[in-house]
Amino acid sequence: RARAEAASAQEDCITRDGRRIGVFANCGSVDDARRAAINGAEGCGLLRTEFLFLGRTTPPTREEQAATYAAVGAALAGRPIIVRTLDAGSDKPLAYLPTPVEENPALGARGIRLSLSRPEVLAEQFEAIITGLAADQRRIMLPMVTDLAELRAAKAILRDVEARVGAENPTELGIMIETPSAALLAEKMAEEADFLSIGSNDLTQYVLAADRQNPLLTAMADPLHPAVLRLFAQAAKGARAHGRWIGVCGGVASDPAATAILVGLGIDELSVSPPAVPAVKSAVRRLVAAGCEPLAAAALDATSASEVRNLVEEHFHAFA
Ligand code: PEP
Ligand code: MG
Repeated sequence: RARAEAASAQEDCITRDGRRIGVFANCGSVDDARRAAINGAEGCGLLRTEFLFLGRTTPPTREEQAATYAAVGAALAGRPIIVRTLDAGSDKPLAYLPTPVEENPALGARGIRLSLSRPEVLAEQFEAIITGLAADQRRIMLPMVTDLAELRAAKAILRDVEARVGAENPTELGIMIETPSAALLAEKMAEEADFLSIGSNDLTQYVLAADRQNPLLTAMADPLHPAVLRLFAQAAKGARAHGRWIGVCGGVASDPAATAILVGLGIDELSVSPPAVPAVKSAVRRLVAAGCEPLAAAALDATSASEVRNLVEEHFHAFA
């Protein structure tokens, strides 16, 4: 199997009944992008740009940001790069952009909320992305969106920057679905977002009211909980209603035990940790997408995450 995985590492990923699933990588450094390319990722489905901003006393210049985006783009040799705008907050504070101490940073001024309160920082990041990556390689994604007003406000800033720098084409602008609000409103969001990508780490934390950083709750904060999966399903339905693609870029995408359910829910793209790319690709290639749909339906009807995990086991035995 290892040799077969290596041989097909760079090929498209298609289920046995012909459904194409994109397998991309999450990157948080230029090195990650190199590892992603070696492992056969089709591109970067989530570039966490915090690495450019954190742990320093002065902000990165626009040129420095652009050079880093260009290096990520070069490492992935022209394949698409989805750059997520800065997802800082009082849990990931910036020395040069002080944020008030918050009692509950996960529910605080983070992600797009913080960016919209500092529009000049967001505009500079947009400009750096546009100058660092070619039009056909770049996509932009917004973190922690809760409603359309935030998407519209960020899009207006992006279009202003594009007009100012004379960009030829509008950049595709998608949103993360990682708040329950965004998932519930996905059908509305997909009218105006070019794509959706589920951030299962935060979505699970918010749906189950279980802090993702609390080691006592690791077992409880399972993204395969039916309550979380119901929001995945709602988001996928919303995306499909407007002909948008929908991905998953949270940790559950890297879990080959989850692949069948995600495909059965109608997910088009999985963005996984660079080392997980070969295993997730081979998991997709073993699946029959049509057979995943009843599994997904049963998972939505389950009453606990462990029941869902048992269903997955049974499915594997039935189709292995
Ligand atoms: C997520 O929340 O699932 C996600 C991908 O974003 P991060 O892990 O960077 O918060
Ligand atoms: Mg998140």
